[in-house]
Order: sequence, then structure tokens, then C-alpha cells
Amino acid sequence: MEEKEMETKRIIPNQAGYKQAGDLLANGGIVAMPTETVYGLAASAYDDAAIARVFAAKGRPQDNPLIVHIADLSMLPWVTSQVSEQAKRCAEAFWPGPFTMVLPKGERIADSVCAGLDSVGVRMPSSQIARELIRAAGLPLAAPSANRSGLPSPISADHVLRDLDGSIDAVLMGPRCEVGVESTVISLTAHPPRLLRPGAVTLEQLKTVLPDIEVDPAVLDRPKEGEQVASPGMKYKHYAPKATLIMVEGDREQYCRYVNEQADGVAVCFKEDVDRLGVPVYCYGASDDGRTQAYALFEVLRRLDEDRIEKAYLHAPGQTGVSLAVYNRAIRSCGYRKVVL
Ligand code: AMP
Ligand code: MG
Repeated sequence: MEEKEMETKRIIPNQAGYKQAGDLLANGGIVAMPTETVYGLAASAYDDAAIARVFAAKGRPQDNPLIVHIADLSMLPWVTSQVSEQAKRCAEAFWPGPFTMVLPKGERIADSVCAGLDSVGVRMPSSQIARELIRAAGLPLAAPSANRSGLPSPISADHVLRDLDGSIDAVLMGPRCEVGVESTVISLTAHPPRLLRPGAVTLEQLKTVLPDIEVDPAVLDRPKEGEQVASPGMKYKHYAPKATLIMVEGDREQYCRYVNEQADGVAVCFKEDVDRLGVPVYCYGASDDGRTQAYALFEVLRRLDEDRIEKAYLHAPGQTGVSLAVYNRAIRSCGYRKVVL
């Protein structure tokens, strides 16, 4: 069911603003907040009715669980029933930051947050604004990305308003997100531990703490029809602009030649190749720098729609470091369409 049109408040992140937004959340409200990864749509993780409003505003499938955000380690026992030595080591290494652990679900967490699973995804963001808001609410906050389900994630307050103005109570008007793609998600309820979604905390970094971590097959490929997936979110069409996006895998020379031969689209390319292409270009970072790719990807995908582009050829990023996260989002944005040169 669609949420009824309402006035969405624009709240400045200062002391008065945190109090106003925190009170909204404590009273069943839903508020978009900046984090270092993407903007999140927050609600009390204890409040089933508020969580139902989050799913409705986003049009999110009910079986896709939400990540719960905490401000500091003292809140961890509010969210999970059991903190293993392994979880402690990961928290020490990667929190606060773009890193989510799936842990045994705490009793007070609303069932709808976890989509009926007995586990919960938990993250402590490094964004000071997000943590001030969590403290002001005095609650763990469940927060999926603050976009309409299926569209590219929002990395600015403006993106949030384009998708959700009139459907949510407020937006905390923070800065553009620094990372630009969602958090790394690992499961510690799986043995050995499993990477469910790559992010800015890289597989290489994870291996320093969890040497036996395995990569879920859904990170790189389309989950098979009817197959059980460890992270329900992985099975949905995701991050997709209206344009038909095609991933092109090959070296720089091959990519440029291929795109120049196609008369019908634009290039979503790396900055080194901007001058070698005879079609309109949308640059998403440097070919050897995953951080710059992550920073730019969702903004570029949204610009394709603003410019009413119908077809675009995206140069495939690598699959190491932060580029693994970029590849994971990009291949979904392409609906798994890929040309290998
Ligand atoms: P989003 O909130 O849009 O960033 O998506 C959250 C991601 O975390 C989705 O891919 C979910 O499937 C995954 N996730 C959250 N909680 C769990 C959980 N308890 N078990 C497995 N995956 C989870
Ligand atoms: Mg999302």
C-alpha cells in the first residue's frame, strides 16, 4: 500500500534538529538520515508499525530484512542476543564504518526488521550526524537505503526527496555521502563466515580478521531461479536506472573501440577514456581506484535518467578492493546484461 501524501520536513542537523528528528523517531516516525555510505530511511527497530511504514514508503518486498544502526558499543546488547569473540574482533577492526554484521537477533527487535529470520544485520556508522540522531532517538534505528525500491541508492538529500518527498516524515539535510555505495555485509551466523554484500570494507581487509571467510556466490552472479539466498536482498532487481545499461568487459582499448562502433548509446566510462570516445560520456571515477568509482556510480546512474538516456555501455570495473562492491552494484544495475570482449 502506498503511503498517503504528507508534508516531509527538511531538518537541519544541529542540536534542535537532532531533538526534533529524534522525537519523531521515538513516536513512530520515519526519517531519512545521511550516513557515510548512502542515505538511510530510519525507524525505531523496536516498532513494528514504524517498520511497516518504511516498507510501504520504499515499496520494498517484505522478505528483505533491514540493517539496524547503533551509535556505540553500549547499544549492541539491545540488538543481538549474543556477541561472539569473532564479532568483537570485527567490531574492533571495522566499526565505526561501512560494515554490517549479521548476528543472532535480539528479543526486542521487531520481527518485521528481520523479515522473520532469527538473525539481524547490525552496523555502527562513522557518520557523526547519523550517530547523533541515533543518540537523540535513544533507540537502535532500522534503516534501509532511502530510495524507492529498485532504483539507485540515494547519496544526497536531494536524491531522497526526489524519491520520497510526501511519503516520509522528515529528511535530515546532511552532506553528500563520502563512500557512495552501501555497507559491506557479512554473516557471522554462517560457518565459516560469509561475505553477503561487498562494500568499502574490502574482502582483503576482512581476511585479516576472518581468514576463512567465503564469498557468497550471489555477490558476482545472478542467483539461480528458486535458489535459497543467504541475503534476501540479493535476489531483487536493484540499483537500476530506466535506461538499458549494458556492462562491457574488456581492456580500455577494446572498450573504446566497441562503444565507438555502437551508434545508439552513451558511455559510462573511466576518466582516462573520456577523450577517446565519440559518444556522450558519463565518467565514474578512475579505472584503478575503486573508491572514486563507488563515489560516482549512483550519481551517474541517476543522471542517465535525468538526461532521459535510453541506452548506456558501462565499462566493467575490476573485482578487487572497493571495485568488487562497484562491480556487484553495476552488474545488478545492468540486469546482468554483459558483453565480454
Ligand atoms: P539495504 O537496507 O537496502 O542496504 O539492504 C540491506 C541488505 O542487508 C540486504 O541485501 C539484506 O538482504 C541484507 N541483510 C539485512 N539483514 C540481514 C539478515 N538478518 N540476514 C541476511 N541478510 C541481511
Ligand atoms: Mg537498498
